[in-house]
Amino acid sequence: MAKIAFIGLGNMGGPMAANLCKAQHHVAAFDLSEPAVAAAVEKGAHKAKSAAEAVKDAEIVVTMLPAGKHVREVYEKDVLPNVAKGALLIDCSTIDVDSAKHVAALAKKAGFEMIDAPVSGGVGGATAGTLTFMCGGPAASFAKAKPILDKMGKNIVLAGESGSGQAAKICNNMMLAISMIGVSEGFMLAKRLGLDFQKLFDIASTSSGQSWAMTNYCPVPGPVPTSPANRDYQPGFTAAMMLKDLLLAQQAANAVNASTPLGAGAAQLFNMFVNSGNAAKDFSGIIRMLDGK
Ligand code: NAD
Repeated sequence: MAKIAFIGLGNMGGPMAANLCKAQHHVAAFDLSEPAVAAAVEKGAHKAKSAAEAVKDAEIVVTMLPAGKHVREVYEKDVLPNVAKGALLIDCSTIDVDSAKHVAALAKKAGFEMIDAPVSGGVGGATAGTLTFMCGGPAASFAKAKPILDKMGKNIVLAGESGSGQAAKICNNMMLAISMIGVSEGFMLAKRLGLDFQKLFDIASTSSGQSWAMTNYCPVPGPVPTSPANRDYQPGFTAAMMLKDLLLAQQAANAVNASTPLGAGAAQLFNMFVNSGNAAKDFSGIIRMLDGK
């Protein structure tokens, strides 16, 4: 079984590290938060006093940190100067494409293989071990990472070279945000035209208006009993997380001169929604703002 250093044991990293312990790997765990480390130790991980200590004997390093600046800092200051020779580096955080490429280039220069491997599936997927991993990096490094990622996820996909995992993640989430706004506008127009939600759902879900946002995650209560709309928009996937990904998508679009007018509009609408006290609500709750509430 592999010696794994796991850095960043928050809402996602905690359960992901627990699944590696369950698979009998030796996990050295570090987080700036003491309670997060204690929770990981309870699930079978070994406490490391610092990130440097966690990585010093590691064959594999997994990081699950909030944003690009944390990833740059942890790799530049803690991981690359201290990690054992030959270790494979896997960053699962959702970060900007530039930071992902930058850190991968630093790792390569220092003689390490690295992949970016952001995830989709939320805390539920992290706990159940059913995450989707979207990976970027050399095919040989991906092949080495896959058996480890298999213990935390169900769909493990190589998207392309370094940064491609992050690119896939933000493109997917930009499409999701735009389609969720589209579905919400459709349902709110239907309401004002006197159409029953269930009737619209039955028609549109088998017509050309069909989308995942409607059939799996319908933003009005009723048609899809498991959707957050049926529990006052408790997440699921928070509006704050969606805004973060939309801003990363806009940053990337500006950097490569891609025209994304609806992505920009979605970012503006989610910014308004988050800043009116809805950061912790499910992102599908944006329908209430679009309904004038
Ligand atoms: P979180 O804030 O719960 O966890 C991040 C952890 O990183 C915290 O425990 C924090 O203490 C730790 N940390 C920060 N800086 C550190 C450092 N220098 N050294 C060690 N530990 C440090 O966030 P999360 O929800 O677990 O999300 C992690 C990443 O996964 C984010 O990039 C997020 O966008 C992405 N993501 C989250 C979800 C979700 O539903 N929560 C879904 C998909 C992707």
